[in-house]
Amino acid sequence: MSVKIPSSVLTIGVDIGGTKVSAGVVDSSGNIIASDRRSTPLAGGTELIATIIDLIKSFQSRYELAGIGISVAALISSDQGTIVGAPNIANLNQLNFVSEIKKYFNIPVIAENDANAAMWAEYKYGNAKNLNPVMFFIIGTGMGGGLVIDGKLFRGANGIGAEFGHMIVQPNGIKCGCGAYGCIEQYASGSALMRYASEEMELDPTKAKELLKFSDGQDELSGAILTMAAKQGNEIALRAFNKQADWLGSACASYTLLLDPQAIVIGGGVVDAGELFLNPVRQAMEKYMPFAGTHLLPKIIAAKFGNDAGLIGAADLVRG
Ligand SMILES: [Zn+2]
Repeated sequence: MSVKIPSSVLTIGVDIGGTKVSAGVVDSSGNIIASDRRSTPLAGGTELIATIIDLIKSFQSRYELAGIGISVAALISSDQGTIVGAPNIANLNQLNFVSEIKKYFNIPVIAENDANAAMWAEYKYGNAKNLNPVMFFIIGTGMGGGLVIDGKLFRGANGIGAEFGHMIVQPNGIKCGCGAYGCIEQYASGSALMRYASEEMELDPTKAKELLKFSDGQDELSGAILTMAAKQGNEIALRAFNKQADWLGSACASYTLLLDPQAIVIGGGVVDAGELFLNPVRQAMEKYMPFAGTHLLPKIIAAKFGNDAGLIGAADLVRG
């Protein structure tokens, strides 16, 4: 038999990614007390909305929910509801999540870009607490960004502010998923890490064989394999991480002059490599820093939350 929990303290966060939709009931301290997940429907759009509604309803029978926060891997317009760009999820453009979901539930609903929601979780309950201003890179296949200034998420005039992964660092460089060429995402993301490792493997087949020993007989590399290999001193893996860290450090130096953050929080899969990755990022930031020696450097710290950051942040943002 389920027990109803007082409504004022519980909200639900839903995180929509390219492959899965996760939902969690979150209390007012940022703890997930129940969670579930589904695959993201390939058709996206209205099928995705149906999946979300179904997930929320499955919790509503057990918990009294005071609000719904949606975190989505998409650009959201300044109306905080309409999707203006979602490269990894089908049929979302111009869809208004908030109004679609409000048709089914009589409680407050908000939608937020996933990196912004994750930044918010770090600021409220994680490693960015009490830091001002504080910025966030979330590094997975791509590279998202978030920024909190004076205790508020910064969204910009059109809702596209703090997209830190799309600063152009190499004009006419590698084409990015956003349509531009040479964004930092193409040089400092998890995909870039894989590319660096593959390039090194081609140059040195003997060392490549050593690296593949970590892959359990598979020919495919992954972030987890590279992390494990780097931790055990594999040269190709270490060189690949160092290249990625060098680019990220250079971006941290540029953003420091733009925002003068107290700290830069780094989240996403790359954090599993720990200091092995963060230390070279700090060194590169120092190496590239403009006006070096005239100002304090921001702290480079790992995020507290992993994959749950987006839903925890969104569940809190709906509290207003
Ligand atoms: Zn881009």
